[in-house]
Amino acid sequence: MHVHLVGNGRQGSGCWLRVRGWWHKPLANFMLGHIGLGHTELQAEDFDRIYVEHLLKQVRESSLSKLVLLAQDWVYDENGKKMEGAGSFYVPNEYVLKLAREHEEFLPAVSIHPGRPDALDELERCLEGGAVMLKLLPNCHNVNGNDKRYTKFWERMAQAELPFLAHTGGEHTVPVVNEAYSDPRTLQLPLECGVKVIAAHCATKSGLGDPEYFHIFCEMLEKHPNLYGDSSALATLNRCANLTKCMRPGLAERVFHGSDFPVPIFGHRLKLRGELKRDDFSRCQAIRNVIERDYQIKRALGFQDEHFTQVWKVLRPVGK
Ligand SMILES: [Zn+2]
Repeated sequence: MHVHLVGNGRQGSGCWLRVRGWWHKPLANFMLGHIGLGHTELQAEDFDRIYVEHLLKQVRESSLSKLVLLAQDWVYDENGKKMEGAGSFYVPNEYVLKLAREHEEFLPAVSIHPGRPDALDELERCLEGGAVMLKLLPNCHNVNGNDKRYTKFWERMAQAELPFLAHTGGEHTVPVVNEAYSDPRTLQLPLECGVKVIAAHCATKSGLGDPEYFHIFCEMLEKHPNLYGDSSALATLNRCANLTKCMRPGLAERVFHGSDFPVPIFGHRLKLRGELKRDDFSRCQAIRNVIERDYQIKRALGFQDEHFTQVWKVLRPVGK
């Protein structure tokens, strides 16, 4: 689970991509290079098709059979007004739902800011369209999960058994609008409404200066049986410090395998930490398919079959 879709929308997908700034531009190029695409493809008229085909090829050539593909909503302000100019990419729900109808490898995760004036209507449309999950980055989308005005939205999600994948912890690939919403404690209200919440990255810190919320996430797991985590982007240089802790009893049953494709996967720091053996490191690092590399690194660290399959327990059952 946790695989990103991006597109430039030039052939009608509805996506847009706005990469700017001294840090995001080289980072975007680096990420594309890392998954085997380049600047030429990004500029291509049919980049959206190229990206989807590339992703399908990667999953078909990997040990995984399906992936949860993520839409990405606009950023909205506290009053539910679209913040034009905020956010770095947009992927419409319709596009993800359509791709999932066309390819059995894709399971659709939609994205709806709960403050949108049409949030509940859009949620109904997406449920009808077969959504298995809802994804937001509260710190980047400007969503305070505890805002009482969102109660109805969370209640409807709980009733429909639609799980909520929420980014937690710092973020440096997408611009942050409100740093305070990186804190998993801002997910208290949806948890109390009965939504199955998956804290992406288990609330680990991303940059050196970010606060660490991993221990808060672990405390919250004890209080909320409907809270889970994912291991996406944990086999990376910046977030790997807590990866092997996710295999401990109490956590192992609650943490799901996530990729965060196209985020770069590297085992170097895991090797330095003595967690990834030298031979495993060389073998995994030589794998060009990053979906497979991420899988093989986690396997070599000791993650069991369940880590890669137990997300099925919480995905909305839509018969796929
Ligand atoms: Zn992500």
